[in-house]
Amino acid sequence: MLKVAISACLLGEPIRYDKTGQRDRFLTNKLGKYASFIPFCPEHLAFGTPRETIRIVLENERKKVITVFSKADVTEAMHEAMAQELRKIQNEPICGIILKSKSPSCGLGSTKYYTGAMSEGKKDGLFALTCKKAFVGFPIEEEARLLDPWLRENFIMQLFAYHDAMHLEKHAQNMNELVAFHTAYKFLLQSKHEGNYRLLGKIVANHEKKSLNEVLQEYLSLFKKTIAHKSTIAKTVNVLQHMVGFFKKELTSVEKQALHLQIEEFRDEIVPLIAVMSTIEFLAKKYDIHYLLKQKFLNPYPKDLALRSSIQEGK
Ligand code: SF4
Repeated sequence: MLKVAISACLLGEPIRYDKTGQRDRFLTNKLGKYASFIPFCPEHLAFGTPRETIRIVLENERKKVITVFSKADVTEAMHEAMAQELRKIQNEPICGIILKSKSPSCGLGSTKYYTGAMSEGKKDGLFALTCKKAFVGFPIEEEARLLDPWLRENFIMQLFAYHDAMHLEKHAQNMNELVAFHTAYKFLLQSKHEGNYRLLGKIVANHEKKSLNEVLQEYLSLFKKTIAHKSTIAKTVNVLQHMVGFFKKELTSVEKQALHLQIEEFRDEIVPLIAVMSTIEFLAKKYDIHYLLKQKFLNPYPKDLALRSSIQEGK
């Protein structure tokens, strides 16, 4: 099971300044079947609930945390609470962080900063900044952006791939396991970044005869960067055509035509990606194409998350 750190209010905990929660049903009801959540709330820890609202005020380039009505400077208490919450999530083998948008603590690029009473535009909340510094290259997202089907699909795919990478790092016994991992991720990596996919192949080939540990560290560092790339519809179409190339000799002309038509309809945003994937999977099973059936690109996460069912998903 994945472990994911999350703003506690997104689980519905009544922990916001006014003692309400903001439960996100996709996260609790769907992702929650496959993830155990590590909740955090630096504001509750620092000030209790209910509490006065706070805002970030810029003063001589310093970020101060000020209560909105009583104008108290609570920066220090906030930093202590954030350090404690950070230690909590660092002690867990998490593979991602989900933050609540617009909050002075948790917003990811959606938090208002102020100079006096004037808004200074939107940036990262203080705890989001702390997490980004502590977890470089990690899957981190805020819930509001996950309403976009394409961003949600990319993020959830990244979470599951990151989890697989952590498992490999911990348990790999020999190079064969790394080769099998790279083979299974071939098409998914290509859909993210073709150049990096080739570099990863060179690392796995290990012509310099490095130790397993050295190769793993080098490979997983680039793997994690690669899966963080957002795919595009053009790259996805390219990968789908590569997959068809694998078994086009086995296909009847009717099957070939139907598959090409579906890929075109996916490119034109008429059918969702799941339709093309299901056809490829069906035909790969029919013709016993193991290489394709083992590809993570076909099943990067449990199907009932239904992330490839929207036609906006592949933009
Ligand atoms: S947004 Fe962050 S700080 Fe605010 S209630 Fe939710 S978890 Fe707590």
